[in-house]
Amino acid sequence: MRAAMASAEVGDDVYGDDPTVNRLEAAAAAKFDKEAALFVSSGTQSNLVAMLAHCGRGEEVITGFGYHTFTYEAAGASVLGGIALHPIPPEADGGLDPDKIRTAVKPDDSHHPISRLLSLENTHYGKAIPLERIQAAVTAGREAGLMVHLDGARFFNAVTALKIEPAALAELFDTVSICLSKGLGSPAGSVLVGPADAIARARRWRKMLGGGLRQAGVLAAAGLQALEQNVAGLAEDHRRAEILATALREYGQAWDAPVAQATNMVFITPKTADHAPLRAHLNGRGLRLGGGEGSIRLVLHRDINDAKLDRAIDAFASFYKRNTLSA
Ligand SMILES: *Cc1c(COP(=O)(O)O)cnc(C)c1O
Repeated sequence: MRAAMASAEVGDDVYGDDPTVNRLEAAAAAKFDKEAALFVSSGTQSNLVAMLAHCGRGEEVITGFGYHTFTYEAAGASVLGGIALHPIPPEADGGLDPDKIRTAVKPDDSHHPISRLLSLENTHYGKAIPLERIQAAVTAGREAGLMVHLDGARFFNAVTALKIEPAALAELFDTVSICLSKGLGSPAGSVLVGPADAIARARRWRKMLGGGLRQAGVLAAAGLQALEQNVAGLAEDHRRAEILATALREYGQAWDAPVAQATNMVFITPKTADHAPLRAHLNGRGLRLGGGEGSIRLVLHRDINDAKLDRAIDAFASFYKRNTLSA
């Protein structure tokens, strides 16, 4: 990937003449069967320019409570676009209930913001939300006259787990945002795909946000490789996540909640007293854990091969076996 970046042909993307960015945008549009694509610096910027492209001031995005657009993007759409965000609590599978969407849509009344966009997410906390569940939510949104956007930061983890073609999920949405970083391994960048008019508006917003890059082909070259060569490896990440979850379930008595696994993520909830010693023990074996109290997320990705996975499992084993023996 570094070699592809070093040898990338570049131009000035602000003038639309960076050939590598243009190739990436054309490849993304084709893969998702959309008219146009826009290369942006991050997933947050991608969702933001999408919301700004769809909604005006005093309009509203209906989304999930805990979805990235609502919880982890500093309310950028509200701050910069005067757009209201209405969150709905997701169901157990991570999807949104169609009835709750219908209830959230506001009547045409001067008391309310104008409901304009439904923004979904897949995967959500690693959960690949089934196509039928997504379809039902999209239909509820469309029947209410909403545009629909997908935050598909981990889009390819979802379609890999669901065993469907990318276009089968993308076709339900007006716009889809996909991270080339995350599991696909690019150092930076996302693409937003959708209709030509919405992407043209998003491109203007990207410029306004300071996201118009010049010789961005060095990043787009990495993104192209991520898109064309790194999707197949996601199934391996999911397989390794299953192995890790199975191994950690051995220490059933150690957890305050059942070990959960979804696509490339494993969630563990150590007993409160174990958090600090577990972190120190793992740290000593080259495994750093983030987070504080409560649930900890372990994410598999293309830099974790079978040997590193074994090391991680051994590091947990040496902590919990020792503790079980001494208990
Ligand atoms: C990571 C992520 C984003 C944002 O991506 P950044 O590139 O970190 O800004 C958006 N949505 C979801 C679901 C994500 O996991």
